[in-house]
Amino acid sequence: WICSFPPGMPLLPPKLLSLLGCLCPRNKLCTLLQRWNVPPDLQLSRQVAGTGVPGKKGTNSVLVLIVGLSSLGAGAYALGDILRPGLGPGAYMCSKLSHLSPAAPGTHPKVPSHVPFLLIGGGTAAFAAARSIRARDPGARVLIVSEDPALPYMRPPLSKELWFSDDPNVTETLRFKQWNGKERSIYFQPPSFYVPVEDLSSVENGGVAVLPGKKVVHMDVRGNTVKLSDGTQISYDKCLIATGGSPRNLPAIERAGKDVQKRLTLFRKIEDFRRLEKISREVKSITIIGGGFLGSELACALGRRARTRGLEVIQLFPENGNMGKVLPEYLSNWTTEKVRREGVNVLPNAVVKSVSVSGNRLVIKLKDGRKVETDHIVAAVGLEPNVELAKSAGLEVDSDFGGFRVNAELQARSNIWVAGDAACFYDIKLGRRRVEHHDHAVVSGRLAGENMTGAAKPYWHQSMFWSDLGPNVGYEAIGLVDSSLPTVGVFAKATAKDTPKSATEQSGTGIRSESETEAEASEVQLSESSSPTPHVPTQGEDYGKGVIFYLRDKVVVGIVLWNIFNRMPIARKIIKDGEEHEDLNEVAKLFNIHED
Ligand SMILES: Cc1cc2nc3c(=O)[nH]c(=O)nc-3n(C[C@H](O)[C@H](O)[C@H](O)COP(=O)(O)OP(=O)(O)OC[C@H]3O[C@@H](n4cnc5c(N)ncnc54)[C@H](O)[C@@H]3O)c2cc1C
Repeated sequence: WICSFPPGMPLLPPKLLSLLGCLCPRNKLCTLLQRWNVPPDLQLSRQVAGTGVPGKKGTNSVLVLIVGLSSLGAGAYALGDILRPGLGPGAYMCSKLSHLSPAAPGTHPKVPSHVPFLLIGGGTAAFAAARSIRARDPGARVLIVSEDPALPYMRPPLSKELWFSDDPNVTETLRFKQWNGKERSIYFQPPSFYVPVEDLSSVENGGVAVLPGKKVVHMDVRGNTVKLSDGTQISYDKCLIATGGSPRNLPAIERAGKDVQKRLTLFRKIEDFRRLEKISREVKSITIIGGGFLGSELACALGRRARTRGLEVIQLFPENGNMGKVLPEYLSNWTTEKVRREGVNVLPNAVVKSVSVSGNRLVIKLKDGRKVETDHIVAAVGLEPNVELAKSAGLEVDSDFGGFRVNAELQARSNIWVAGDAACFYDIKLGRRRVEHHDHAVVSGRLAGENMTGAAKPYWHQSMFWSDLGPNVGYEAIGLVDSSLPTVGVFAKATAKDTPKSATEQSGTGIRSESETEAEASEVQLSESSSPTPHVPTQGEDYGKGVIFYLRDKVVVGIVLWNIFNRMPIARKIIKDGEEHEDLNEVAKLFNIHED
C-alpha cells in the first residue's frame, strides 16, 4: 500500500524525541542541509510501501526534522585505520616476497614452534583481530597462518570497483578507483607492515607475521597446538579461528562432470577475479546463477562491460527478483529492472535441473523446461563456513546456522575464539546468528582480539553490510533483514546525490564500513525545516531512496537504507532500543529522507 503523512500529525512523538535526544545535541547546527542542498522540485515524493504492517493514509505538508551526521569524533575506534591500505606497490602476492614466500619443501622460513597469538585464516576478521591485539598489547607477537597465498586483503572490491577500473593491468595491480575517484589497493597493508616469520620470536616490540599458503589441518585443543598441512606443529597461548567460508556449488553442477566444472567459477578470491576477468574478454556468453548480492553485483559489473564488448550476460535464480531473500517484493522487482537496464538478461523463477556440454557450449536445463545456452557459469549460491577443524578440536558446529558455535564473547573454549563468517555467535540483542559480511568480520575480529587480550566484552555493536549495483544504486543494512519478515518502507525521490558514488565522494572514504565508523564518531544533529509538498506517488514510481523496516513481534529488528548513506548510527540506535513503534512513518523521519 502507498500513503503519505496525514494532516495534523504531530512532528515527533515523545518516545522518538527521547531517542533523538540521545543521538543529537540540539544546540548544534545541521550541516546536512548545506551538504545535500537539493532543489525543492526534486524533493517531492513520499511513498510508504508495506508488506505486513498497515500504516496511515492522507496527504499534507509536513515539517521534517533534519538529522545531520557531521563532524568526526576524535575518539572513535580506528576501524578506518584497519582499512586504510594502498600505500605500497600494487600486488602483494606472497610469492613475490622473499620473507613471505609460500613454502617450497625444504625452503620455507623457520616457523616458530610457539607463538603467543595464533590466528588461523588470513582474511578480514583475522587482520582486524591482529590489529586489535597489537593495539591493546603493543609488544604482542601475532602469527597469521593462511591457506591463501596472498597477504590479507578485502573482498568487496572484487565484485565492484575493480570491474570498473580503466587500468588494463588491474588484475595485476589490484588497485582500483573507489566510487569517489581515489585510488587504493585491496590489501589491508603493504608487505613492510609485516614481520618476517622467522623474526617474530626475536623482533623487538613484537609484530604481526603471515605464513601464507599453509593450511591448519588439525587442532589439539588440550595441548594448545595446531598442525599445518606440511606437518609443522605450532603451539600457542591464545588462538583465533577465522577461516571464513567456501563458496557453495549447485548439486546439478557437481554432478555434471569435469567438462562443465572447467567452465565454472565459484567466486571468492583474487584468483577468481583474475580468471573471470580474463574469461569475460574471451567468451561470448556468461551466466551467473544466484540472485543474492554477490550474483547481482557481478551481473551488473559484467553487464556494464557487455555493452562495449558484445558479451551476453545472463543471470538466473529461483526467487521472483534480485535480492529477493533480503528485499521486499516490490523493491526486489524494481531492482530486477535496474539490473536489466545494466545490460543483463535476468531470468527469475529459474531453478537449475542439469548442466551439460553440447558442441562447444554449456546447456543449462531449468526445471520448467527452459534451456539456457552459454559459455561459462558463475555460481554465486551461498557460502559454506569452513569448519573442518571442529572435528579434531572437538568444537561445536551450529546445526541451524552452520559455523563454530561461540558465546557472546566469541569464545569457543578456553584460549580459543572464532570471528567472521565462520562464527555462529550469540548476539545479546538479536539472539544466535551467523553473519557473512565485511563489517561484521571487522567488528567481530576486533572484539575477538580484544577478548584474547583479556577484555571479556560481549558482542554488542551491530555490524552493517552494504551492496552496490555499480556506482549509482546501493544499500546499507543492519540487523535481521529477511524478506520473509513483515516490512514497512518509506520512500522519496532520489537525486543525483543519492548514490554510492556520491556518498563516498562526500565522506572521502571508499569502503562503506569505514565511512560508517566516521559517521558514528560524528554527532548526529537534529533541526527542523520547512517540508516540501508531498504527493501521493503514482503506481510504478521510482523507489529512488528510502528506509525499509523489518519487524518481529512489532519490534524493528532490521533496517535497509536504500540509496541513503552515512545514517547507520540512527538505524543502529533504533534496533538497539528494541521498542515497539506506533507509527513507523514517524521513525522514518529520523532519517531525513525528504530533505537531502
Ligand atoms: C566478491 C565478494 C564481495 C563481497 N562484498 C561484500 C560487500 O559488499 N559487503 C559486505 O558486507 N560483505 C561483502 N563480502 C563478504 C565479506 O568479504 C566476508 O564476509 C568477509 O571476507 C569475511 O571475512 P573472514 O575473515 O571471516 O573470512 P575470509 O575473508 O574468507 O578469510 C578466511 C581466510 O581463512 C583462510 N583459511 C580457511 N581455512 C583455513 C585453514 N584451515 N588454515 C589456514 N587458513 C585457512 C582462507 O584462505 C582465507 O584467507 C563479499 C565477499 C566476496 C567474496
